[in-house]
Amino acid sequence: MTRVIGRMAGLLMCAALWLVAAPVDAQTGELLFIRGGTLIDPARDDLGVKGTLVVQNGLIIAVRPGDDSPPLPGARIIDADGGYVMPGISDMHNHFRTGMFRPSDDQARVLRSLLDWGVTTTFDPGVPVDEFDALRAEVAADRRAYPRTFMVRGVFTTEGGWGKGYTPSTAAEARALVRELKAAGSDGVKLMYDDMRWATTRPFPVMDREIAVAIVDEAHRQGLRAYAHAPILELAKHLLEAGVDCLVHGIISEPVDAEFIDLMKRNNTCYISTLAMFQTNAGYDAWATRLEEFDINGRLNPAAMEIFHQAPAGTPRLDNTAWAAERLPVLRINLFTVHGAGIPVLIGTDTGIPGVLPGISAQLELVMHQEAGLDPIDVLRAATSAAAVAFGRPGEFGTLTRGAQADLLILDADPRDDVSNIRRIRHVIRAGRVHR
Ligand SMILES: [Zn+2]
Repeated sequence: MTRVIGRMAGLLMCAALWLVAAPVDAQTGELLFIRGGTLIDPARDDLGVKGTLVVQNGLIIAVRPGDDSPPLPGARIIDADGGYVMPGISDMHNHFRTGMFRPSDDQARVLRSLLDWGVTTTFDPGVPVDEFDALRAEVAADRRAYPRTFMVRGVFTTEGGWGKGYTPSTAAEARALVRELKAAGSDGVKLMYDDMRWATTRPFPVMDREIAVAIVDEAHRQGLRAYAHAPILELAKHLLEAGVDCLVHGIISEPVDAEFIDLMKRNNTCYISTLAMFQTNAGYDAWATRLEEFDINGRLNPAAMEIFHQAPAGTPRLDNTAWAAERLPVLRINLFTVHGAGIPVLIGTDTGIPGVLPGISAQLELVMHQEAGLDPIDVLRAATSAAAVAFGRPGEFGTLTRGAQADLLILDADPRDDVSNIRRIRHVIRAGRVHR
């Protein structure tokens, strides 16, 4: 009897602790039982077998082997039978724009639409300063309707340089601006450090090196990460010497060398190739064909695609697309080299640049990583857990681990055989809410 009472007290204690630990949110307290699928988690070698995920309050609360575990009372069963369950895609370079030549300004709508394509985490390394607060508030008001979103407020550039943003003329001014970004809740700082020689015959001025060093240093003092647009090898090295945390474009100017690899490793700098962006800049017509061939579900708008087929390559400012087109193989080789050296590779598209359409470009970016020679499982890791690690949130998302956010895809075909199976989406789940 005493033993029974003791056990009951224990159970009551557990129940009490459970209530404290997991307050039920009216919207998401729903218990999900995702059963019958093969669990794929590039961060965990022990999975790859059939299993069941139990989800509550937006989090994975249990990972059970096998597909015959009895559901908890009241659970909603999500049928993953014959399917493949993996963490959602992280597209860590995205500007939440339509990718048309005259983009609509409805960033919130574009951001929501990314979920349709399986993108459950994303990062805009340069939200215009005057749009930052409103967009952040909109996402916070209903976060499960959007991917998990990281945002940098504005970008640092120089007078007459590439990109619109802050143009400090002294190191002290730059440091003050970084502190302002910190106070405004920016998820880091972004430096434009490129003369754009890969896309124009009239190169742009580049930020003073001393100012760039001050920006990176002050960001680190403030606990912010520094992201860089620096696709020219020698310029990227300047920023790596300053300790930059992530290159948000691949190196296109020439093959990377040992010095570059050493600097990347020293800082554990992450590398985002944005193959889609370089590909579209090399010629809209060819890129549009690539998108159409990939679109087996017929979701692209033919009228919109026709605009790209008719568009001449480049723009008045970016008049040297041949340079970029010629160097696409270098870009792919650099990705392969960097990955092979053990540098963290993430997936990013630069969505919003004309031709880089939301969602489908992220899926295609995975495929292009596979074409560059990465194994499917490494591509999947780049698209999931590697992003969480690089953004300082290991285990919080991008993995099928107890306690991780339930941002999940259920696919009808195995992406480990061919990452283009990422198109075959049955369900998208964002923080425990079934999106589709
Ligand atoms: Zn960008």
